[in-house]
Amino acid sequence: MAVLRRQSFSGLASRVPAAYTARMWKRKRYQFFTNVTYRTCRTCLSEHGRIANRSDAFLQCDNDCERHVVPFFRSELAYRRRLQKEMFASSKGELERRRLFNSGIAALGGDNEQALNLLTASARHDLYIPEVERLIAAKEGVLRADSDLRRRLLAVFARAYSDKFGWYRYERLPEPMRIARETEGLRRLREMFE
Ligand SMILES: [Zn+2]
Repeated sequence: MAVLRRQSFSGLASRVPAAYTARMWKRKRYQFFTNVTYRTCRTCLSEHGRIANRSDAFLQCDNDCERHVVPFFRSELAYRRRLQKEMFASSKGELERRRLFNSGIAALGGDNEQALNLLTASARHDLYIPEVERLIAAKEGVLRADSDLRRRLLAVFARAYSDKFGWYRYERLPEPMRIARETEGLRRLREMFE
């Protein structure tokens, strides 16, 4: 079996000039990375994970989104494409999170059950404290008048925030830092809905 494989490889090499093959495999590709958060602009979300032949092929944006263009060799292409699939999914998830969260804000004060469903669904994607602050600013009157609604919203957000720190990407944080962030976030949430 080993002999056969060696034969077929040498057969291929004899048909393709060695220098050309080496150049092909060494040719660099580039992959675009941003940090997907509630602030990432739509341009960067749509570029996140994209692979190009040139480092300057990616769309610019006017925001201060984090941008990294990572060079890699063609031999890594399969791995990079797997990564790309996850990154596209993460951008799509963030857009869906925003849609659900904004629809939830809009429904608050009208159909509160629907609002709670939408906000719960949104928080399954991710939850950001500044987004909750935005919700409170938009619906201050509704929330002030309804302590039961505040209690239910706090339950939804506090649970989602705790879950968030169990997710894969936060597992890379050192334990004391993770606990400190979680505790601080939960404290802030309770303060907002008191
Ligand atoms: Zn951007």
